[in-house]
Amino acid sequence: MTQSPHEDLHRDRLKRSQATRRDHAVRGTERLSRLADAGPKASKPSIATQSAPLSEPDEMLRPASYRLPPSATTPQVSVPISPMLQVVFGLVVLGMVVLLGGVALGSNWGVLRAFISGRLSSALLSNEVRVTPRVSATPNLAVSAGAAPANQKRVGIVSGHRGNDSGSVCADGYTEAELVYQVSVAVASQLRARGYAVDILDEFDTRLDGYASSVFISIHADSCTYYNDLLTGFKVARSELSAVPAIEDKLVACLRDRYGKSTGLKWNSNTITHDMTNYHAFRKIAPQTPAVIIELGFLNLDRETLQKRTNKVIEGVLDGILCFAAPN
Ligand SMILES: [Zn+2]
Repeated sequence: MTQSPHEDLHRDRLKRSQATRRDHAVRGTERLSRLADAGPKASKPSIATQSAPLSEPDEMLRPASYRLPPSATTPQVSVPISPMLQVVFGLVVLGMVVLLGGVALGSNWGVLRAFISGRLSSALLSNEVRVTPRVSATPNLAVSAGAAPANQKRVGIVSGHRGNDSGSVCADGYTEAELVYQVSVAVASQLRARGYAVDILDEFDTRLDGYASSVFISIHADSCTYYNDLLTGFKVARSELSAVPAIEDKLVACLRDRYGKSTGLKWNSNTITHDMTNYHAFRKIAPQTPAVIIELGFLNLDRETLQKRTNKVIEGVLDGILCFAAPN
């Protein structure tokens, strides 16, 4: 059976003599770097391609036949416009029409593209091109679905082991991954109801590279194997190489306080390991993102709380995040 990264974490603690500890991150499948944004770069067409010369053609551009003879005394009235000049004026007018049309359509490249390809009407009727007013009396209501407001706080939640393994497994099949996913989904739902944007991430999610958010939390639980009566309680840790230690310490303190109060579980600092403080995701996400890893409790001695009173577990994690993200 494949040991989980998490099982190692506990096994190390208990079997210090075991020299071949495998690192949580090293064992993890190294992910390919996030794919560069392969989408076509939408660039606005340059003005120069749209607008013909806007200024009047000067004398040098005028065909010789247009020039008046030196002796002419009635220059403008009776002179016929040459075909060449008509072409020049036509280009000027066309350029201005295109330019003004582009401005009127809000400089929306999708609209312009549709316009150019003659699909303007159908595009505007479909969802393919959405024209939104630049100015709205009710800006909060103008935000379309899927587009987060600029000031919306984002929370990243790693559902421990998800997409990789089951984590700690109990004899009857109950797994760490099952518990923490239930908690992750519920916490995410509660946060979204409060206006947060939330990403539920896999253990080795490709989105981890450079991930930026207001709060980042990886949720795990400890071993379901009984070793001794000391293996009970929860713990929270930040990176030992934190770029924002004071901020992350606040997040740790918030979770420690709220989660402890909600669940009644003890704080177990004795089993915070290097694998927690050197957690692989800490080294992948954006350095400024406040990040912690929480062990909700031990699946063996704390199972009653974790499995039967999961609502308290959820509430504790949620309150801990809110304590940090939205302090009163
Ligand atoms: Zn784990």
